[in-house]
Amino acid sequence: MTDLPSTVHAILDRAGPLLVDGEWVDAIDGGTLPVFDPSTAEELTTVAAAGPKDVDAAVVAARRAFDEGPWRRLSPGERTRLLWRLADLVEEHAEEFAVLESLDVGKPIVAARAGDVRGAVAVLRYTAGWADKLEGETLPLAAPPDGEYHAFTVREPVGVCAQIIPWNYPLVMAVWKIAPALAAGCTVVLKPAEETPLSALRLGELIKEAGFPPGVVNIIPGFGETAGAALAAHTGVDKIAFTGSTEVGRQIAHAAADNLSRVSLELGGKSPNVVFADADLERAIPGSARAIFTNAGQSCGSGSRVYIEEPVFDEVVSGIVAEAEALRLGPGLDERSQLGPIVSARQLERVSGYVDDAVADGATIVTGGARPELPGWFYRPTIVTDVRAEMQIVREEVFGPVLVAVPFSDYDDLVRRANDTRFGLAAGTWTRDLRKAFRVVRDMRAGRLYVNCWSVIDPALPVGGFKESGWGREMGRAVRELYTEVKAACVRID
Ligand code: NAP
Ligand code: MG
Repeated sequence: MTDLPSTVHAILDRAGPLLVDGEWVDAIDGGTLPVFDPSTAEELTTVAAAGPKDVDAAVVAARRAFDEGPWRRLSPGERTRLLWRLADLVEEHAEEFAVLESLDVGKPIVAARAGDVRGAVAVLRYTAGWADKLEGETLPLAAPPDGEYHAFTVREPVGVCAQIIPWNYPLVMAVWKIAPALAAGCTVVLKPAEETPLSALRLGELIKEAGFPPGVVNIIPGFGETAGAALAAHTGVDKIAFTGSTEVGRQIAHAAADNLSRVSLELGGKSPNVVFADADLERAIPGSARAIFTNAGQSCGSGSRVYIEEPVFDEVVSGIVAEAEALRLGPGLDERSQLGPIVSARQLERVSGYVDDAVADGATIVTGGARPELPGWFYRPTIVTDVRAEMQIVREEVFGPVLVAVPFSDYDDLVRRANDTRFGLAAGTWTRDLRKAFRVVRDMRAGRLYVNCWSVIDPALPVGGFKESGWGREMGRAVRELYTEVKAACVRID
C-alpha cells in the first residue's frame, strides 16, 4: 500500500463516516465494516456501517429535503447544471476513482479507467440532459362529459428513493441510480455493497463540493441484512431501486409490497451467446471471450453460456481457450493485469463450488477450474463442456470467469435451450447472415440483444431484464418511467 498515490492514502484515511443530511457522521451505534483489497486479501481500511437508526436518519433527511427543501423546486436547468458539475468533478478526479475502484473490486486499473470511470462520467452527462426533458402530453379527451376541456399530463418526481447497489461496478452503479433520480427532482438514500463502499463515499465528497443541497443525497454503507433490509422496508421511502441477486431482489419486492412503494429491480442473468458457423470467427472468438471474462465474469450481462454451431464447435472452443490462457492475471493496480481477482473470499468459494459440482456431475473442464498461485482471491478463467441442461452450472448465475460451451445444430432446438432459463437479461449472436441475426433478436427472451458485439453499455441504451432478471429499465429514455409519477390534469375551458 505504500506506493499508492498520496491522494488515495488520504481518501483511505478519510473514508469512514456516513453522508447523512449533508454531514459526515459516524454510525449512531458505532458499527463499522472492514474493506478488503481482493488482489491481496488484505484489509485496506474500515468504514462506518449504518444500522437501522442511521437508515432512519438518512430517510428522514431525504424526506425533509424532498418535502420541504429547495431541490424539486429548482429549475430543471439548475439540476442539469449541478449534475454536469458533478460529472466534471468526477472527471477531474478520474485517476483517484480508477485507483479506488481497482483497489476495492480488484479490477484491472486499465479497465477501471476506460470502462468504469469514463462510463460513470458519460452517464452523469447524459442523464443531466433529462432534467429539462421530462415532458408531459396534451390529451384530447376521448369522451368528454360536456363542455370543452384542456387536458394534459405532467411528470413529477416520485419522491424519496432508496437505492441499493452491488459490488461489481460500484461507481457506475451508484451513478446509474443517483443521476436519473436527481435529474427528476427526487432525493436519495444510497446503500453501497458492503464489499465496495469507497468510490461511493468519494462521490459523496464531490456531491457536497458540487453544491447539492443537504439531504438530497445520503450515502450509507452497511450490511444488506440490516441496513439494506431496514432501508427497503422504511415507510418514508417512495421508491426502491435495487441491483443485485435475484434472491435479494425477491425480498426487496416483498418489502415494497408491504408499503406499496414503487420498485425497480435489475437482477441476475445467465445470458446465451450464439456463434453460427458462418460467423467471422476472428471477431466471434475474442468477442465471446470478452463477453464472459470482462470484470472476471462479475457482470450481470456476462455471456456465460456459449452455444456454438457444430461444424465450428472445436475451433471456437479452442480459440476461446487460447484467449483465456493468454489473459494475464494480476492485481488490480498492475497496469499489465488483464484479469483481476474475485471480489471476496465468499464469492470465490461460490464460483469454485459451481465448477467443482459440475465436474462431480460429469462436466469436463477444458481450461481453468482452479486458483492460480497468487495471494488474492483469484480464479483462473474457466471453460466447461459436456454439460447437461439441468446442471446448476448451466442454470445458475455463477458470477465469475466461468463459461459453459454447448454445441448446437438445429435452430429451433437452440432457441428452446437458450431460452430455457429463469433469467432474461442479455443475449447475443455472431453471424454474417442478416436473417439469422434478426431471427435471434426476435426469438431471445431478453432485455438486451447484441449482434456481432457484446457488452456495449451506453447511457442511451435501456438496461433491464425479462423474467426473473428484474422489473423496469434503467438508462435511456426509459429512466423517465422509473423516477417520475404521471399527473393528469383536466381544465374545463368553456
Ligand atoms: P446481493 O446480496 O444481492 O447484494 C446486492 C446488494 O443488496 C448489496 O448492497 C447487499 O448488501 C444488499 N442486500 C443484501 N441482502 C439484503 C436484504 N435482505 N435487504 C436489502 N438489501 C440487501 O448480492 P451478493 O451477495 O453481493 O452476490 C450474490 C450473487 O448475486 C452473486 O453471486 C451474483 O450471482 C448476484 N449478483 C448480481 C448482480 C447483478 O448486477 N445482477 C450484482 C451482484 C451480485 P451486502 O453488500 O451487505 O450484501
Ligand atoms: Mg450479499
